[in-house]
Order: sequence, then C-alpha cells, then structure tokens
Amino acid sequence: MDQFQAIINDVCELVRRHAHPRRNTIAVSQEVAALLDAIKTSDTASRLDDLSKQVAGCTKCELSKGRTQTVFGTGNTRAELVFVGEGPGAEEDRQGIPFVGDAGQMLTSIIERGIKVKREDVYICNVVKCRPPGNRNPKPDEMAACEPYLFQQLELIRPKVICALGATAASCLLRLPEARVGQLRGKWHWYKDIPVRVTYHPSYLVRQKNEPDKLQDAKAKVWADIRAVIRVLNGEEPPEP
Ligand code: SF4
Repeated sequence: MDQFQAIINDVCELVRRHAHPRRNTIAVSQEVAALLDAIKTSDTASRLDDLSKQVAGCTKCELSKGRTQTVFGTGNTRAELVFVGEGPGAEEDRQGIPFVGDAGQMLTSIIERGIKVKREDVYICNVVKCRPPGNRNPKPDEMAACEPYLFQQLELIRPKVICALGATAASCLLRLPEARVGQLRGKWHWYKDIPVRVTYHPSYLVRQKNEPDKLQDAKAKVWADIRAVIRVLNGEEPPEP
C-alpha cells in the first residue's frame, strides 16, 4: 500500500507541475490535475497529522521535560514555501503554534507584506519541536533526536523552496555544524533536491530594534534573500543543483 501511495504521490506531483493552460507538456485536463492533487493533499495532510500525534508523545530528548506542549508546525500542507526556524519560545510553547511572539509578528510581516501571500499559504516549523529552557539554542543531541521529524515534514510537503531562518536551521538542513548566517546567506544551498535560502532569524531583527542602522542593514539583507525566494516561486530563477 505504501509503495502504491508513493507512486500516486509521484504521479500527482508530475501532473501538478506540468498542468498549465498554455503548455501541452502532459495531456491531462486541469480538472484531472485538480482531482489527483486533491488525493495527494488529503494524503499529505493525514500523514502530517499522524506525525504530529507521534511528536506530541515524544520523549526522545531532555526538552520533553520542560515543555507545555509540542509545537509541530502550521500552514498549508501543500505549500511551495516552507520556513524552518530553530525551536519554540515561551509564547509558542504556550500556544502550540510556531512563530507567534514578537519574532512571529516579524515573520508574518515578511510573508504578508513582503511575499504578499497569506501566512496560511506557507508552512512554518522548527528544527526542534519542544521549547529549549530559557530560549537557549538547542544542543546537538537534541537536534539530532528531533530532526527526523522535520525531515519527514519536508518529505511529505515537498516544497519548491525552503527558507532557513537562522544558524540552527541552516546547520540542520545543510549539515554544517558551524553554520553562520552571514557566510551562508546571499546564495543558494540544497536540502536534497530542494533549494534553500538562508537568512537571519526574525528574532535577530527584533533584537536590533534599538539600533536603527543595524536594523536597517539586517532588514535589507533579509529582503534581498526573500526577493530571491520570490523569484524561485515565480519560476524566474530556477537555481541549478
Ligand atoms: S524536542 Fe523533539 S526529540 Fe526532543 S522530546 Fe521534543 S519532539 Fe522529541
């Protein structure tokens, strides 16, 4: 059954990519494409739901002891764009939703005012699903324990592009233990066959709010990275692996 579903998923993906009113690359109507897409959408949503329930009971690392609840991810399960952050903060731990504090408002502004799509149209998640105490960075063993969940999320959603928010997400996705945003941003990287753009975590922007020059500089860099993401979403910049 799993193998059958995998074939269906691959066919759906192929059809979704090629069904276009002005292209004759593949001979299916848009109605058939929509039908096949709906099959996959429902399967993806249901598998993500199953994974979310598994994560909710996870005790694979020490972070499970301090959490109020796990913070799995939110948004469109067929999103073309996935944002990956570091881990939940206090407000996220309380609400069970990623990026809902000050940094979350900043990210929402980037999505809705910058990319000009609704927050619900993208998918947002973190490397670790439980709150690190005192908002410290997740430790390597905690990331190693939790990252298989992120990888399964990405495998199910299969976005067109990933935006890694901050060094922890970049380190996890690009397998670079010493990742530094300043060195990685401004160019394309790859997670399997998916292009990855690294940019500053919104909390970095929030921390610069009392230093206007630094804030302006960081905002300009984030906006340059987001513009590159938009170009890929628009099919204007297909980066080569
Ligand atoms: S952080 Fe991840 S691996 Fe650790 S307990 Fe939470 S869900 Fe499990």
